[in-house]
Amino acid sequence: MRLAILGSTGSIGTQALEVIEHLDSDVFSITALAAGKNVALLSEQIQRWQPPVVSVAGPEEADRLSKLIDTSKTDIHHGESGLLTCATQSGADRVLNALVGAAGLSSTIASLEANIDVALANKESLVIGGQLVEDVLKRSGAKLLPVDSEHSALWQLLAPHQPEEVEKIIITASGGALRDWPLDQLNQATPQDVLKHPNWDMGARITVDSATLVNKAFEVIEAHWLFHLPFERIEAVVHPQSLVHGMVELCDGMVLAHIGMPDMKVPIQYALTAPLHQPMKTKRMNWIGQKLEFGSICNERYPAFLTILAAAGRGGAALAALNAADEVLISRFLKGEIPFTSIVSGLQEILNQYAPTELSLEAISNTDQWAREAAACLKPL
Ligand code: MG
Repeated sequence: MRLAILGSTGSIGTQALEVIEHLDSDVFSITALAAGKNVALLSEQIQRWQPPVVSVAGPEEADRLSKLIDTSKTDIHHGESGLLTCATQSGADRVLNALVGAAGLSSTIASLEANIDVALANKESLVIGGQLVEDVLKRSGAKLLPVDSEHSALWQLLAPHQPEEVEKIIITASGGALRDWPLDQLNQATPQDVLKHPNWDMGARITVDSATLVNKAFEVIEAHWLFHLPFERIEAVVHPQSLVHGMVELCDGMVLAHIGMPDMKVPIQYALTAPLHQPMKTKRMNWIGQKLEFGSICNERYPAFLTILAAAGRGGAALAALNAADEVLISRFLKGEIPFTSIVSGLQEILNQYAPTELSLEAISNTDQWAREAAACLKPL
């Protein structure tokens, strides 16, 4: 497999390279690596994997990188056009899109347009541009392969079944770092409190999104597009142990569950080796005495879950607005500018201010910019 990795220095990207290191390396070659500003780590990855094409955030990073690597072997690109070059011009037959945020959408669309399969870790592609991605998939021979753990689980559970056999799918949420906090203390949670995720080791934004359940609402939307199910047949439940990653309820009441220790390397590897499971050194389940608990998503603790799904109901570029606002509000929270609870109230405020638009790449980009500016000057509530 000739693989291009977008977001190679992030949490998913680095774990993907570890996975490939342990798989048969003759089967995989890396055609391109794209990163943002972490030039030091990217140059190490280039030395190890020798990709012919790489991309970084901008000209300054490209300049710094050119002093660290052999530029006769590796072409350096930058910016959005650099990402698209890595995705579509490097000779890849699969793109692992592990970019964070709205920036991932154009790479997903361009790869599918070029008939290149996409292993999708960038959930924003489907959250903000689901209909656009769906339109491309209809005319492309390429596939989307889910990397998100819940969707990887559902994908495997659904594979042997006909659509009419499936009554609903169930996505689990850990409940995040503040799951057991008293409600009246949530506004005092510090970045350190929120970044201590109980089960998963992930990037900063997604860890905060796990505490607000924005991440879970995004995953419901992602599942809606990946598995072509209406929202009323997708349920989300809190499951503190994060051992059941997804469930499928069949039309006879039988429920299939996908269970395993939480480790992102497992779904990353499966997105590269499907339909085969390959050997992997991971922690194994210890069943004796193991509890599996499930609870409902309480709106008082997780109001953002319904705010995001309300935005999904509004359609157009509403989710692009909330996604952009979420990014800005989280970074303001991490800098200590606003309390944790203002992330959620800020999202509701941006949804109130959002003026409906039709969905297009241009509308997404304009709405993204508007929401960023609006979220940057929201007063803490
Ligand atoms: Mg997930």
